[in-house]
Amino acid sequence: MTIYNFSAGPAVMPKEVLLQAQAELPDWHGSGMSVMEMSHRGKEYMGIHAQAEADLRELMGIPANYRVLFLQGGAHLQFSMIPLNLLRGKLSADYVNTGDWSKKAIGEAKKFCYVNVVADNADRKGTHVPAFDTWNLDKDAAYVHYTPNETIGGVEFNWVPEVGDVPLVADMSSNILSRQIDVSKFGLIYAGAQKNIGPAGMALVIVREDLLGHAPSGLPTMLDYKIHADNDSMYNTPPTYTIYMAGLVFQWLKKNGGIAAMEKNNIAKAKVLYDAIDASNGFYNCPVNRADRSRMNVPFTLQNTGTLKDTSLDSDFLKQADARGLLQLKGHRSVGGMRASIYNAMPLAGVRALVDFMNEFAQKRG
Ligand SMILES: *Cc1c(COP(=O)(O)O)cnc(C)c1O
Repeated sequence: MTIYNFSAGPAVMPKEVLLQAQAELPDWHGSGMSVMEMSHRGKEYMGIHAQAEADLRELMGIPANYRVLFLQGGAHLQFSMIPLNLLRGKLSADYVNTGDWSKKAIGEAKKFCYVNVVADNADRKGTHVPAFDTWNLDKDAAYVHYTPNETIGGVEFNWVPEVGDVPLVADMSSNILSRQIDVSKFGLIYAGAQKNIGPAGMALVIVREDLLGHAPSGLPTMLDYKIHADNDSMYNTPPTYTIYMAGLVFQWLKKNGGIAAMEKNNIAKAKVLYDAIDASNGFYNCPVNRADRSRMNVPFTLQNTGTLKDTSLDSDFLKQADARGLLQLKGHRSVGGMRASIYNAMPLAGVRALVDFMNEFAQKRG
């Protein structure tokens, strides 16, 4: 039976990448060593590290005045490192609140500065992206932070805010590499690795050079972006194996047409799934505003008795899905229902298998 893993993260990896890693596991390219055994200062690992960065730069078209950092502490540590490094003597930062991950970033930033929540989607239960003309931006803010894809709510921006000279900061943990973006519109982009990049254990940070070197004195060394930039992310021992795996994923992306091809696939995959939900006569329901539906994380509920609170079918759905090899579809505890995460590495065949199952289940139980 073919297994399809719809986990929100850590998430599905490309099969080819796993097989390549398996083949190279005990002896990388005749070195007699596994990558995980190599000194991070040795020429083999340094080559892997530099290649990963070069491939990412090519894939995303990262301009020369941006630095690429491979850091530890996940996206969560970035919630603190961003205000610590980017406030640059200013007293406040602008944050857009579109859901659970925005809220976490806001909560952490409040420890360091005044947070101006410029827009919020709580009025509609977090199911849409607030229109830009409602944003209450402050031209003196240190930066504007937003979450282009809310992994839990399934709400995704299909546009990039134009915030003028104030640096734009984006938590792209769950949609990086899934669609083409113009990096030059951002001051800083960050992403935890375990959704669209590779295994857990790393955060990717892409930061414009002029934003480095403004950390307050007394900031712990490991929290200063400039230290990591000056040392090519090797101030301390980096998560070498995760960076190697991320590098294999970048090569896989390049071999498969790059981000433009991924975006096309992702649009097709999301359409198949949302179309099935919308054609189910209410048996399946996605609460997210159509224009703001995520291509990566698709939340839906089963409600054939007509009340949102009825979850009696959920456990049957999950059990039967599991038996068909369709795994990890249970929704986040704060939302309930189901969530299908369909990152880059999820093939269209996986989404089709899910939709076939959903249609059968609705026919039997609807
Ligand atoms: C998963 C996720 C995080 C948290 O990532 P960690 O690496 O676990 O810290 C933050 N933001 C978004 C949008 C996410 O999807």
